[in-house]
Amino acid sequence: MSQLSSIKPLQMVDLHGQYLQVADEINQAIQSVIDQTAFINGAEVKDFARSLAQYNAVEHVIPCGNGTDALQLAMMALQLQPGDEVIVPTWTYVATVEVIALLGLKPVFVDADPNSFNLDTGAIEALISPKTKAIVPVHLYGQCAHMEPLLKLATEKGLYVIEDTAQALGADYLFSGQQKQKAGTLGTVGTTSFFPSKNLGCYGDGGALLTHNSELANTLKAMANHGQFEKYHHDLIGVNSRLDSLQAAILNVKLKQLDNYTAKRQQAAKWYDQMLAEVEAIQIPERVAYSTHVFHQYTIKVKDGKRDALRDFLKEKEVPSMIYYPVPLHLQKAYSTYGYEKGDFPVAEALSGEVLSLPIHTELEEAQVAYVAEQIKSFFHG
Ligand SMILES: *Cc1c(COP(=O)(O)O)cnc(C)c1O
Repeated sequence: MSQLSSIKPLQMVDLHGQYLQVADEINQAIQSVIDQTAFINGAEVKDFARSLAQYNAVEHVIPCGNGTDALQLAMMALQLQPGDEVIVPTWTYVATVEVIALLGLKPVFVDADPNSFNLDTGAIEALISPKTKAIVPVHLYGQCAHMEPLLKLATEKGLYVIEDTAQALGADYLFSGQQKQKAGTLGTVGTTSFFPSKNLGCYGDGGALLTHNSELANTLKAMANHGQFEKYHHDLIGVNSRLDSLQAAILNVKLKQLDNYTAKRQQAAKWYDQMLAEVEAIQIPERVAYSTHVFHQYTIKVKDGKRDALRDFLKEKEVPSMIYYPVPLHLQKAYSTYGYEKGDFPVAEALSGEVLSLPIHTELEEAQVAYVAEQIKSFFHG
């Protein structure tokens, strides 16, 4: 049995430990921005956009203020109009649907797949109406949604595909012909977030859009900058959404580590898989054939209504855990005006009572995972 006293305290994420690994480089990058005092639109921002585009093998990266803005900018640049319908999973973070509502668009929810947790691609076609303009797949917890059939359907029906890649930057989608492509570069446009706890996190807020389409990239750039293609000439009603130079400088250092970070998360996931394999009362995360998993979260399903008791037990043992998410979006108060009811999406509703995300991050050690696994086993087996 591993003792609590012999391991590092468990945290959902360990951003300070991660910082220490690259502290000199980060400190220098920050100091350099201060020395240049180019806090907005400095060279670091352009460098980062170029490097991230290269990393994802995509033509254009447009940095912006955060991942929520990225989603909003995508919908604005694609000129979605009030009343247009957007198909979106009910099992996701609120940001995905919030911007749809804010722009006066109508969210049309789709249920989740019970094993991958991603939107149920097979359920989309029945939801398409003459008003449908876009589908927003979310690559939840770090694994791609089933994009190949989704993309085929979108092409047939002339719909935009906006990929919410806030949790899956760096994941590879694997097409049936073996060809692979980065998450966020498969649809019309991809959005991502650099919130500190995301797989590529900065030290504040940040976000970006990814697209192969040059015309759309230009519109997005203008849209994020008060709708101006030329300074003080406003052709579009835009917003102010910027990635600042300090954040870009930090991201330039951390982007070089992203594959290393992903490998560490995958290693931690493998330890969990092995150590939890014999616990029948839980289901470890499914790995789908069509995507790699970058483990933004390691999310288990707890059977027989024992999730909350397990969570309380773990808390007592100083093991943090989180429920992503306790209420599916179609049942949230703010979105009740869309007329959905309990029972509309049984998979998502069941998941909200079963999922539990365990600590996973780049600094997690095998002994820590072993401690978590032992506590889970002792909860079920005594
Ligand atoms: C984090 C997140 C966002 C929003 O990103 P912010 O940078 O916090 O605005 C959007 N969608 C999903 C799925 C997320 O996890």
